[in-house]
Amino acid sequence: MDVRAQVSMVFHLDKCIGCHTCSIACKNLWTDRRGAEYMWWNNVETKPGTGYPTLYEDQEKYRGGWEAGAGRPRLKLGGRLAELARIFHNPRLPALDDYYEPWTYRYDQLIGAPPSDDQPVATPVSLVTGEDMKIEAGPNWDDDLGGSSIYAAADPNVEALTDSERGQLLAFERLVFFYLPRICNHCLNPGCLAACPAGAIYKRGEDGIVLVSQHKCRGWRMCISGCPYKKTYFNWANGKAEKCILCYPRQETQQVPACMHSCVGRIRYLGVLLYDAERLAATAALPDAELVEAQRALILDPFDPEIAAAAREAGMPEAILEAARRSPVFQFVKRFRLALPHHPEFRTLPMLFYVPPLLPVMATVSDGHYEVTPELLSSLDASRLPLRYLAAMFTAGEVAPIVEVYRKLVAARLYQRATTVGDVPRESATHALEEAGLSAQDAEEIYRLTALASFEERFVVPPFFREGAIESVEDVHEHQEEEGAGFLRPPRRGW
Ligand code: SF4
Ligand code: SF4
Repeated sequence: MDVRAQVSMVFHLDKCIGCHTCSIACKNLWTDRRGAEYMWWNNVETKPGTGYPTLYEDQEKYRGGWEAGAGRPRLKLGGRLAELARIFHNPRLPALDDYYEPWTYRYDQLIGAPPSDDQPVATPVSLVTGEDMKIEAGPNWDDDLGGSSIYAAADPNVEALTDSERGQLLAFERLVFFYLPRICNHCLNPGCLAACPAGAIYKRGEDGIVLVSQHKCRGWRMCISGCPYKKTYFNWANGKAEKCILCYPRQETQQVPACMHSCVGRIRYLGVLLYDAERLAATAALPDAELVEAQRALILDPFDPEIAAAAREAGMPEAILEAARRSPVFQFVKRFRLALPHHPEFRTLPMLFYVPPLLPVMATVSDGHYEVTPELLSSLDASRLPLRYLAAMFTAGEVAPIVEVYRKLVAARLYQRATTVGDVPRESATHALEEAGLSAQDAEEIYRLTALASFEERFVVPPFFREGAIESVEDVHEHQEEEGAGFLRPPRRGW
């Protein structure tokens, strides 16, 4: 066993209101610069929808991430030779139109307009060329239109649905959508890192944050192709790749990342996970159906004395072990098994997890009274979001893990409803808990974690020990080369 620590996150999608405050906080801090205008290290997309950049989930088109191999995954892009052959012409790259052309307005036309009977207008101007332009796309062009026949129908996850499920999802009068905030997943097996011919991308030993060395980057952009989430970007002004840095300068001073700090819906949780680095390659090479469970198994229980002993033996400071025990991410991912990785079939072993959105409470009005029936609350078959759609996004197409999550979420909701509102019979709530394999105590804890957790409970930023982790990027690369074939076990020097 080779115990490592990873700063990780959970996004509780039920609580996201799609306000984009997170995106703006990130932009103001990191990408409000020339060449980075079109970059949204944090973006929030409406699902079902086409996302940003358009159709990034379609790996037939982009060939991002990994495919299963014999004992070891292989980059979908191909090996080093295939990469070299494409180095001056890479058809697997998204173009600016797949993101959008950033623009501003000629505000002087408003300020300097002479008196007139007509309202002056500011015409849009491209931030890339400086020329007048016609706006035809933007970073959230399909915002709140995710259920429409144009955008939802083009969502690659819809392909997994039967005709009747597709009808269920896209019927206009039952229109349903949810928000999906996305940042870099700081993967355990990053496709961006493995695809970089310059060896400019590295994963920090002490916390697993994935960074691009601006010094080593040569602008080949293979990281953009290699990342199936399209979370590395090319700065067209300075010719370097850039990506989310998980606000490491903030975390090193015990502050949470800006996107999380500003999150209005309090949907975000941050904490440390321990994992077994010895099993990375074997896990990422498994067939789709086994991936979710195997990724959970990779995550270690910090309360287990054997694992704690192995962590200490690996040199892990007691304070990190302690932070791992208080991690809300561990509670969501491992203990309650409620949070799932985004597209595990991309095999990058993403370390950002999502609690899928619970179905809206269904109610009827009878005799002027508002009524919620347990059947409507708990019927998964009547879900307006087909389970297979969610499975295509979070469980590599396997419906059973989605059903398991929903049974728990619905049971916890029924239990609270029976306890606090009283319009659900106590027996129905107890039955739902039994079916979900939860105790009343579990339901209370899930409720507390979801709805009541304080700032300190939602964000357990571990100590960073940077004074012991100042290592040159060359050292990290030397280590990566020893590991070979782009497959990574981060160095332990961080502690
Ligand atoms: S999501 Fe994963 S593969 Fe993509 S940039 Fe982040 S670490 Fe790299
Ligand atoms: S700030 Fe929070 S609630 Fe608002 S869009 Fe971002 S993740 Fe969702």
